[in-house]
Amino acid sequence: MFQKVHIRLASLCTGITAFILFVMSCGYLYISEQGLKNNSFTSFQNDMNTLVSNLELQTIITHEWLTSVEDNGKYLINVIDNGVPFLYNERNTPEQKELFQTAWNYYERHFEISSVLQGLNTYHLEYRFSSAGKPGSDYYACVVTSERTGGTFQVIILCSMEPLLLQIRTQRILFFSLALLAFIALALFSWYFTKQILKPLEENQKRQNQFIASASHELRTPLAVILSCASASTRASEEERIHFLDSIQAEGLRMSGLIDDMLLLTKADNYRWTICKEPAELDTLLLDLFETFEATAREKSIRLLIRLPEEAVPPVSCDPKRIRQVLTILLHNAISYTPRAGTIQLSLSYDGKNTRLTVSDNGIGIPDEEKERIFERFYRSDQSRSEKGHFGLGLCIASEIVHAHHGQILVTDTPEGGSTFTVVL
Ligand code: ADP
Repeated sequence: MFQKVHIRLASLCTGITAFILFVMSCGYLYISEQGLKNNSFTSFQNDMNTLVSNLELQTIITHEWLTSVEDNGKYLINVIDNGVPFLYNERNTPEQKELFQTAWNYYERHFEISSVLQGLNTYHLEYRFSSAGKPGSDYYACVVTSERTGGTFQVIILCSMEPLLLQIRTQRILFFSLALLAFIALALFSWYFTKQILKPLEENQKRQNQFIASASHELRTPLAVILSCASASTRASEEERIHFLDSIQAEGLRMSGLIDDMLLLTKADNYRWTICKEPAELDTLLLDLFETFEATAREKSIRLLIRLPEEAVPPVSCDPKRIRQVLTILLHNAISYTPRAGTIQLSLSYDGKNTRLTVSDNGIGIPDEEKERIFERFYRSDQSRSEKGHFGLGLCIASEIVHAHHGQILVTDTPEGGSTFTVVL
């Protein structure tokens, strides 16, 4: 599912951005081409102005002057003196002659010379024309008309637009190559970016699935016991039935405890936990817990000790009920994983900045490779799987509570063997 969403999201992201990029590029290209064309035509007009000024200074039009005007083939020239083509025109090829004819026809068809212009000695007109749609057939043309003593003298000058069109074509190729590169970069970036966005969602989904699978697995065991006890009790004696009912009740309570834990974690996942902070005296809280657990520890012949600082610890801003829940989980675990005649120590310390609550035992201990994993949901080490009432959610809940207080929960080895859990607030 995530693969599909990833592909769709990346395509959408690329598509939209590429479309905007394409429209912007085309707009920019159009403006740039118009600028090039205008500049090129203006440059041609300026050249013609200079040429005409020069022409006016010539009393005799020599072949040398006409050759210099051609500027190494940049311009093509055709001269008509009183309607008679100049001998110089013979240099032009038949195609060029045809081109001049087209330019002249265009001039006659499209322009009407105003009386103001006709009153001038020399006037000229620049325009752009295309000869019969052949490639390279776009030209700028200038027709100069000069009234001289000998009659009317006309010069047609043509300049091919091929260099300009080549420049435009090169610019387009460059532009679209860059756009293509940008598109590829965009697609790669979108792919990576959307993957990063979806990663936490995917992980969350995986965790949810794992959570459901583990929860179902854990619920199945007590449920199976309940069902088999219920079915056996129908055929059992009165005494046996009481035993079965006790088992059903015990398993029911186990299930209820597990469901409570799961609901608690679901609330934490949805940020629906309420942490009601208030200044709490943690030494009093520890003493209270010590009294609560002393009897349970004694039942297992475990020594429960408490160590409090001699000086009073300032009240800590926390949710005392939640911190009590954390310590209950730690003490409950310590009693479960410490063999008979073991020792558990509950202690509190304050270093002027942080308050540390420690539960240390000299029980079975936790191997280094498992120290991080024990905070995962439903994680239980192999040696503790036989412990009833332990689903592997306790430390996970404890860690959620401590993190909601912006604190830290750490596990280390007790020097003389066993584990030490420290909550730093
Ligand atoms: P559980 O309910 O199974 O104890 P927890 O999340 O509280 O689940 O603990 C996860 C695992 O961490 C336990 O199954 C056990 O293997 C290990 N563990 C926790 N506390 C201790 C301890 N004091 N000593 C040894 N192992 C412990």
